[in-house]
Amino acid sequence: MAPVPRLRFAPSPTGYLHVGGARTALFNWLYARKHGGQFLLRVEDTDRARSTDASTRAIFEGMEWLGLDWDEPPVYQGANLPRHQADARRLLDAGAAYRCFCTAAELDEQRSAAEARGEAFRYDRRCDRLTAEEVARRVERGDPYVVRFRMPEGETAWVDMVHGRIAFPNKDIGEGDFIVLRSDGTPIYNMAVVSDDIAMAITLVMRGDDHISNTPKQILLYQALGSPLPQFAHLPMIHGTDGKKLSKRHGATAVGDYRHLGILPEAMNNFLALLGWNPGGDREVMTRAEMVELFSEDGLSRKAAVFDPQKLEWMNGQHLMAMPLDALAPRVAEAVEGAGLATAADLAARPDFFRLLLELLRVRARTIDELVRQAVPYLRDALDFDADAVAKLWLKDPAQADALLGASREALAGLSSWDAAAMEPALRAAAEGMGVGAGKLFQPLRLALTGVTATPGMFDVLMLLGRDRSLARIDAARARIGAA
Ligand code: GLU
Repeated sequence: MAPVPRLRFAPSPTGYLHVGGARTALFNWLYARKHGGQFLLRVEDTDRARSTDASTRAIFEGMEWLGLDWDEPPVYQGANLPRHQADARRLLDAGAAYRCFCTAAELDEQRSAAEARGEAFRYDRRCDRLTAEEVARRVERGDPYVVRFRMPEGETAWVDMVHGRIAFPNKDIGEGDFIVLRSDGTPIYNMAVVSDDIAMAITLVMRGDDHISNTPKQILLYQALGSPLPQFAHLPMIHGTDGKKLSKRHGATAVGDYRHLGILPEAMNNFLALLGWNPGGDREVMTRAEMVELFSEDGLSRKAAVFDPQKLEWMNGQHLMAMPLDALAPRVAEAVEGAGLATAADLAARPDFFRLLLELLRVRARTIDELVRQAVPYLRDALDFDADAVAKLWLKDPAQADALLGASREALAGLSSWDAAAMEPALRAAAEGMGVGAGKLFQPLRLALTGVTATPGMFDVLMLLGRDRSLARIDAARARIGAA
């Protein structure tokens, strides 16, 4: 039986969870969930100067928001220092590594000499030629040393899940015999990663393309430590719409920023899933369960993926429209409360109103923020009038505008029931009575009711506002026109 896949996401806590990291986390998670495997989290906090607790928290929050749950307590790389050192010592004991006593000055000299010859620097292995007695003597004396991996001849290759076979001639890997343990006893990055991936029994390492150059070193370390190799999958880089590597210049790159802009985690996941994966056909909009079902390594792409914020907004609109109303309601309620427009309790006390508001606005908005902005006229008494619309629809011909609003008011006030079936004929008759088309009557009325010109349908607006508020707003508009 094939072993249960074990994957990990291994962020360095030196900033927020950015889009590229979240994409990598999601792909690992999707693969694990698809194959009944385990998804683990490892915080690579060995860079003490740059790692912060705030960043670790931000990464956890981002993952939780996206619903990328991990199956075991997070591993903190920094806590594994003794094992990293023990593994480096195992390399020494196995003869796969040796102690190097070269000082910084000596190495600089070697580097300058290589430069003068027009060659790339490679460590000249002078310490590998020291006798065992000499090494013992220097260790005894307390000379500082690093541990270097002894690079074998030949080449190092693997079959990448995304790229197929990748091979590096060993002579081109790094600067020759690379360091695994610094003179202060701390491991270099590749040593720590391999030691941890072995200890965590990781079977598939899925990460960004930018790690391809680390992989041959890591494979050599696995081999020297006598551990089975995991599979590797290197995911394509993410570019902006200008074809350049995604960076702050392209706008928001932190997942949390999109959260605060009113993007739904469902849409964010769906959008991220398409950065380097194609589910087949022209399928794009998917729930998380559908993504898990469809996820396949065959759909992984090698080509750089393009991060297009407009597509993210579009995707968000699709999810806003399609998600169950019960799932949407609490999130909008939270945003409405956050904007100080109403409390969640107010909304809960008016369930029919809130449901209608959501139904009407979710098809017209692409983000929760936009939905909340559009909801303002129905939640707050004071209206913000669109000055251009006021000038055009009311003040160009104030007498006519007042008359149209007066006729609308009369028609609406006379209704025996407040519903669209009754409103429509009454307002059409009023327009006819004024000798204008219904549109001509609706425009100033819509402005009076909402302050703006782009809203849901006229009758829906009237239903949302209810009789009293609708009539009061018409009266206020007429007073305003009269006073103007
Ligand atoms: N900590 C590394 C990074 O943030 C990831 C290492 C890995 O996935 O092997 O890029």
